[in-house]
Amino acid sequence: MNINTRRRRIVLATGAALASASLAFPALAQGQRITFAAYPFTLGVASGYPQADAVVLWTRLAPFPAVPQGGLVETRIPVRWELAEDEAMTRIVQQGEAEATPQWAYSLHVEVKGLQPQRHYFYRFMAGDAVSPVGRTRTLPPLAADHFDLRFAYASCQHYEQGYFAAYRHIVADNPDLIIHLGDYIYESSWGKAHVRKHNSTEPVTLDEYRARYALYKSDVDLQSAHKLHPWLAIWDDHEVQNDYANDRSQHNDPREQFLLRRAAAYQAYYEHMPLPAAMRPRGPAMPIHTRIEIGQLAQLYLLDGRQYRSHQPCPPPHKGGGGNSVDESCTERLDPTLSYLGRGQEQWLYYNLDSRQARWNILAQPTLMAQCDRQIGPGQRFGTDAWDGYPAARQRLIDHLQHAKTRDNIVLGGDVHTFYVSTLKQDFDHPESAAVATEFVGSSVTSQSWAQSKTDAVVRENPHMLFGNSETRGYMRMQLNGQRLLADLRGLNDVADAGTGCTTVASYVVERGNPNPQRV
Ligand code: FE
Ligand code: CA
Repeated sequence: MNINTRRRRIVLATGAALASASLAFPALAQGQRITFAAYPFTLGVASGYPQADAVVLWTRLAPFPAVPQGGLVETRIPVRWELAEDEAMTRIVQQGEAEATPQWAYSLHVEVKGLQPQRHYFYRFMAGDAVSPVGRTRTLPPLAADHFDLRFAYASCQHYEQGYFAAYRHIVADNPDLIIHLGDYIYESSWGKAHVRKHNSTEPVTLDEYRARYALYKSDVDLQSAHKLHPWLAIWDDHEVQNDYANDRSQHNDPREQFLLRRAAAYQAYYEHMPLPAAMRPRGPAMPIHTRIEIGQLAQLYLLDGRQYRSHQPCPPPHKGGGGNSVDESCTERLDPTLSYLGRGQEQWLYYNLDSRQARWNILAQPTLMAQCDRQIGPGQRFGTDAWDGYPAARQRLIDHLQHAKTRDNIVLGGDVHTFYVSTLKQDFDHPESAAVATEFVGSSVTSQSWAQSKTDAVVRENPHMLFGNSETRGYMRMQLNGQRLLADLRGLNDVADAGTGCTTVASYVVERGNPNPQRV
């Protein structure tokens, strides 16, 4: 049923006490207004996937976010939305109505088109007599635009128990055009020390359990605020489903069909809680999130999925899946050229675009560390297998394509390791004199804990293409990009256990176009 048909039927149902209409809309049989037992916009509002002329608006009705379906029982709830030029919502440029249904946990993903480029808009939702907070979003520059600065922030790895999401308060203060999340938006499991707050349930497996986990994370005021004030792009990593899962294999080697049911539940909950376009809506355990965003003539931004399609990690621990322990040279399976981190289909899609798209920059947003990271201090090599080090042949294919891409200036954004790393991606990591192909910035974590700084210092010394490492500071990355250069600020929180913590710039690097070797400033 298209949106126009739907809208007419709602008018019919609410306009008169027609028996057929009340059958179609039992929730409205008592009249046109729904009265909520509590304020339904507890999870806030969000926007995402901006284009020059379009954006996705999101909310989810949940009067009681901790209970299944937010405590709602209606089969359909009509929700009006408005988009305005001003924060007071007086100059409304578009409005409409959408339906919230229990099938999608009463979440809404409204795609607004026909907007003006490179400007802020304001929006809100109305259901029954409840009105949401007013959100703000921003469209991208026109496709032909060349001379502008793009300011964006990216973040990853926000374990709810290990700290407050204060990084987002500082991101909001930076006022970026765009926020990118690189995964581990939720954590399924409880771990780490010095918890400042607790998960309210055991590890989620079912759809309702994953929904409750998202609702808990979204109770963080700074996270809600960042969603309300800035458009987001997002990819997931492993913890949105389960630690170290790969495609259809769980870290515990659960039966495949059983794990795919869990993955389907986790993916659906992710969709329901993020401002994603309908094209990403899951079908069973399949959910296509990898996409390409054109930012004027400045950048081709690739959002990559490192989990759904990947080959199983090589040399897993006995009777387990996942990455597990790091491996040395004896794991020759690691070198198997048929292993793929992105999966063959996504690889081919990416290579096609890299070979044919022209821009000033390519930006690859991906969830983990792409640079080789030899953890064996001194002779010999030892690698983790969950990140790109588990898939060196696939990494080499990508690096070869980046080296010969139509756009030669390549920036890689990474997460997962809860550490700031600044690296040059080499044609051959084992030969430091080989060509530099791209620059990688890995953005610590919003809260999640890492290993000791002394270990990071040793790793950076061991890997000459790694220029900087900081694992003792939580935070995010702040980027400013124009046609000549990228300025990257590594932003570090003073104390993640303090919701009101301050934030300082730990280090800054500049990448000039034409030179993938970053310079510290
Ligand atoms: Fe993480
Ligand atoms: Ca070594």
